[in-house]
Amino acid sequence: MHSAVTPARDEITPPVPVLSVVIPIYNEQEALPLTVARLRPILDGMGVSYEVVGIDDGSTDATPVIMQKVRQEWSEFRIVRFARNSGHQAALTAGIHRAHGDYVVSIDADLQDPPEKIAEMFALAREKDLDIVYGVRGDRGTDTFFKRRTAGAYYWLMRKLVGKNMPNQAGDFRLLSRAAVDALKSLPEHQPVYRLLVPWLGFSSGEVVYVREERVAGSTHYPLSKMVRLALDSITNFSASPLRLATWLGLMSFLVCFALTIYTTLQYAFGSPVPGWSSLFMAMLFIGGVQLICVGLLGEYIGRIYSAVQARPAYFVGYDSAEESTPARSDQTSEYAA
Ligand code: UDP
Ligand code: MG
Repeated sequence: MHSAVTPARDEITPPVPVLSVVIPIYNEQEALPLTVARLRPILDGMGVSYEVVGIDDGSTDATPVIMQKVRQEWSEFRIVRFARNSGHQAALTAGIHRAHGDYVVSIDADLQDPPEKIAEMFALAREKDLDIVYGVRGDRGTDTFFKRRTAGAYYWLMRKLVGKNMPNQAGDFRLLSRAAVDALKSLPEHQPVYRLLVPWLGFSSGEVVYVREERVAGSTHYPLSKMVRLALDSITNFSASPLRLATWLGLMSFLVCFALTIYTTLQYAFGSPVPGWSSLFMAMLFIGGVQLICVGLLGEYIGRIYSAVQARPAYFVGYDSAEESTPARSDQTSEYAA
């Protein structure tokens, strides 16, 4: 069965867990067993009911087999499998939409986000009655110089777009309350960028500082091309100001052209016309370049409008282990129904 429909929380066999831990997993055959071994004792020790939602984002290595094995030994481990690879943000979306817990924590599968901090986030959220607890990266010493620089520029720009609500250096390791999850679920976005949308909600929030560890095994699935894509998605999701750039560039070239026209007229009037093909050539190249940039910018937005109008789901779920044990669906609606 392929469906992008989210089962309502009340359709699932009780009891509803207090905590859901969402893990996007893509080709993590080396890292996953280590992550599970470190995560389980922590969750077991927290003294609350929980579920772990492993989203298999169309892995092509031994990950699905490992996940099945984990589930056999760990009944709280739930498997949601995508029909194909749909990307980290899509996996997060599915996890957030399908999680049943009163609190939902998202964490990477490579142990870069320390699972020990989940307990800290949960305690902080309960103690201070917070809707959001961000995992904030205190030290990126283990990241490459390039990743640190590009991440620094990214967060600087995002804070400009989203405003001061946006915590610096907060990635996708965070805790959300049921209220925040429901608010996110009600948004019509097809390509949500959660690290911007969550601060944009403006719900009460706290922070837990952690040290970003090195990937425990395997290699990153975020090459430069995906990072650029995430940055472009983030900007176009939150701001139309790049479109205004065209107006400013146009205005600037008009002023330059105006000055040049006066200059040429004077040259003509006072009898020393210069051949001047190089300046003409440069002006042509400049204006051509500016026009292409502007057309490209328009294209970025039109492309996104196009896919928003198509309204295709960002992912298809091929299998959800929670639905196996689910009794026949009821028509009963609930406050948590999708
Ligand atoms: N991931 C995913 N789908 C993808 C790429 C990555 O679900 O297409 C998962 C991956 O398994 C990991 C998380 O998203 O749990 C973050 O990815 P990664 O560690 O490769 O990114 P980085 O930490 O290097 O930015
Ligand atoms: Mg990683």
